[in-house]
Amino acid sequence: MSGGDKLDFEIRPNPAPVSVADRAALLANPGFGRVFTDHMVTIRYADGKGWYDARVEARAPIPMDPAAAVLHYAQEIFEGLKAYRTADGGVTMFRPEANAARFAASARRMAMPPLPEEAFVDSLRQLVDADQGWIPEGEDGSLYLRPFMFASEVFLGVRPANEYLYVVIASPVGAYFSGGVKPVTVWVSPDYTRAAPGGTGAAKCGGNYAASLVAQAEAIEHGCDQVVFLDAVERRFVDELGGMNVFFVYDDDTVVTPPLTGTILPGITRESVLTLAADAGHRIEERPVSFADWQADAASGRLREVFACGTAAVVTPIGRVRFPDGEFLVGGGEPGRVTTALRQQLVDLQRGKVDDPHGWVR
Ligand code: PMP
Repeated sequence: MSGGDKLDFEIRPNPAPVSVADRAALLANPGFGRVFTDHMVTIRYADGKGWYDARVEARAPIPMDPAAAVLHYAQEIFEGLKAYRTADGGVTMFRPEANAARFAASARRMAMPPLPEEAFVDSLRQLVDADQGWIPEGEDGSLYLRPFMFASEVFLGVRPANEYLYVVIASPVGAYFSGGVKPVTVWVSPDYTRAAPGGTGAAKCGGNYAASLVAQAEAIEHGCDQVVFLDAVERRFVDELGGMNVFFVYDDDTVVTPPLTGTILPGITRESVLTLAADAGHRIEERPVSFADWQADAASGRLREVFACGTAAVVTPIGRVRFPDGEFLVGGGEPGRVTTALRQQLVDLQRGKVDDPHGWVR
């Protein structure tokens, strides 16, 4: 690597990109995570050599040795963020530095070399530049960016690998929940937990998601959109959803979310919502919320709104809560006022429609 944390990217344009007509057809209804752009970024790492061979090149399969360490011990991390098309045809990214910092934190937890944060942000810019034509127009569409890194060393010993591959791919997406801003139904898992104290809950590693799939499948079987995980020690307190953080809005104008104690992912949307809610004059609290209180306060009406938030879902109201013994509604199952306002504010910020007092938009 030359000159501090900056990497020089070699640009190798895809010689056979998708035709403009085919691309327009794909962008008309991209769904989520099935359509991909023409390019990808790759950067290699080896102990003693550092980060090298930074490239933007044609998106293609990655040849892998069957003994590549990631295939055996799951030393892998990823990130997810979006690039947005603004009304004037420009392109924005929302807080990519925060994703860079979380990616580095995930790397440290998984005994991987952290990619310099500047190189991470630069890699996103390079890919968005190369694949600009893939950013959908309109309110719901965006270009989902998926940076990830895995142990590529060919070795079966159980220890941190000494070779890694960092990759960024991009996927044009529509709304994550097909219902748009319709409230979702969640399933509170009685059997499965996501992360224990001292574990990897705060890292965005593939293994966390592998462990969550059976619980998410159970949620779907019960007609729910997402699983809610309770804490692994007492099975009492709400941690988060399978892929989102959770907020509670009370009738005294308090906005509450579980604290970052190492078992939940420190969502960038979570942190942004805390800031926006404080800006809007709500009292904010990071404290544990028990499932029993969730149910009791929803019944008494003290709890007015519950919403999930994350890059994919933005801010999505939770209307119905199911668990093995029954179900209940929050806020009559309708989207609440605070949820709706926070969602709109975040969407407007991300698309450069309103002032950006916190300097979040790139
Ligand atoms: N929790 C989990 C488990 C997630 O996968 C995500 C999505 N990255 C989030 C919370 C929300 O994080 P963010 O707001 O950074 O997308």
